[in-house]
Amino acid sequence: MSVAPASVARELRARFGDDVVLEGVPLLYLHDATEARGLRGHADAVVRPRSSEEVAEVVAWCYERETPITTRGGGTGFAGGAVPLGGVVLALERLTKVRSLDPLVWRMEAEAGVTTINVRRLARENGLLFPPDPGAAEQSQIGGNVATNAGGPHAFKYGVTGDWVLGVEAVVAPGGLVRVGGPIRKDVSGYDLTSLLVGSEGTLGVITSVWLGLTPAPEAVAPVVSLHRDTTSGCEALAAVLGSGLPVAALEYLDVETVRRSIAAFPAPLGALGFMVLVDVDGSAEEIARLRASVLEVVSDEALATWAPESAHEIAALWRWRDGVSLAVQAERGGKVSEDIVVPFERLAEAGEETLAIGARHDLAACSWGHAGDGNLHSTFLIDPGDEGERHRAEVAAEELFDLAIRLGGSISGEHGLGLVKVGGLERQWGPAALALHDRVKTAFDPKGLLNPGKKR
Ligand SMILES: Cc1cc2nc3c(=O)[nH]c(=O)nc-3n(C[C@H](O)[C@H](O)[C@H](O)COP(=O)(O)OP(=O)(O)OC[C@H]3O[C@@H](n4cnc5c(N)ncnc54)[C@H](O)[C@@H]3O)c2cc1C
Repeated sequence: MSVAPASVARELRARFGDDVVLEGVPLLYLHDATEARGLRGHADAVVRPRSSEEVAEVVAWCYERETPITTRGGGTGFAGGAVPLGGVVLALERLTKVRSLDPLVWRMEAEAGVTTINVRRLARENGLLFPPDPGAAEQSQIGGNVATNAGGPHAFKYGVTGDWVLGVEAVVAPGGLVRVGGPIRKDVSGYDLTSLLVGSEGTLGVITSVWLGLTPAPEAVAPVVSLHRDTTSGCEALAAVLGSGLPVAALEYLDVETVRRSIAAFPAPLGALGFMVLVDVDGSAEEIARLRASVLEVVSDEALATWAPESAHEIAALWRWRDGVSLAVQAERGGKVSEDIVVPFERLAEAGEETLAIGARHDLAACSWGHAGDGNLHSTFLIDPGDEGERHRAEVAAEELFDLAIRLGGSISGEHGLGLVKVGGLERQWGPAALALHDRVKTAFDPKGLLNPGKKR
């Protein structure tokens, strides 16, 4: 039984009521953070279920009627994964219960719609840390973080979101609620379905709740910032930190062009412009003092400037600035095409230089920054979103960037997923046998192909 697109909203409202199915389709639900590159979708209805059980009923309704479902978290994704291509937008913003918080056993169960910042705040208030720290934490949801397997600066020491997921509750086709993993730290009883759902970008199921592992919060943190003449010398400093064996928590970089575009709001006068290395260390107060001094020694060699803030106020200001870099870069021309390629650590300098060269070839301002310790670059081309020619050139440039990542032995996505913007990209990276297996996993979970169609592959 199928329903004509024009009747979907009316029929859903008749079944689930006006409180659950929105009147019309507000623009907000048609885009994510890729709006700056001009992406906007279309949908027949927006549904906001109040519970996991209601999510299951909506999925069952849609599945029976061959209606596509695009699950939406906070809409901060950079891959267009939440941009609907017709059918129903399933928004999880009302699933905001923290079902359990057990500080003594370092564990939490949070519904998918709890914001990232709230998960981290609750952990902190109980002396614990939920380490994954993607930007946009006020808006992104834990379900979205799990669905994209989000990373962040401190993934270098602590790993990505999936490393902290003990189990998930999810609605799978044709509308059943499943729980895999749970309040346990180990589980090898079946295939690792939890890990399959992690990073699946809404294409295998709708995550409604997650069990999260937590860890005792470090007593103190201490960032060290240094500026270097150019990409080569900056990458040498990064390699020196890695090679030193110091147990740093984050190892970040911003190339000269990124620093130039964002330095105005930097919380301290650095007196120079250069390639920035940002190292964070954490631990006990004594460890921190020792580590900060060691890191400073390692990065100071030929550095143009260094800054190692000690007050909580300055440290918070530094990370606030780091969170705002993406927006500061975008502000220059109003839009950007920003990717998240990952390369082996030792190819980082080459990838950074080549990003600028690709931009120059296409007459686009370019820059890169990112999670150097993980070899993860946010290679970015600046655009005026209203300039169709520039937008097109940036998309072509992004394709060259993906070729570059693969040529250097890396991957086309280290953080944001494939979503809509990199659809088709997996074929460049994987051989036919792996692709066929990937497709069979999709078919096993979603035989009718209704879960976030047109994404991921
Ligand atoms: C300023 C800024 C900084 C960022 N920094 C980082 C960073 O450091 N690291 C990083 O990894 N990302 C980063 N991101 C990208 C983004 O914040 C993450 O990908 C985030 O995890 C997306 O969560 P969301 O709730 O907004 O998901 P959405 O954008 O709503 O959705 C993302 C994808 O997940 C699916 N999805 C969402 N919720 C569910 C669910 N409950 N069940 C099944 N599928 C679901 C959607 O269908 C879509 O495919 C940044 C974004 C911005 C705007």
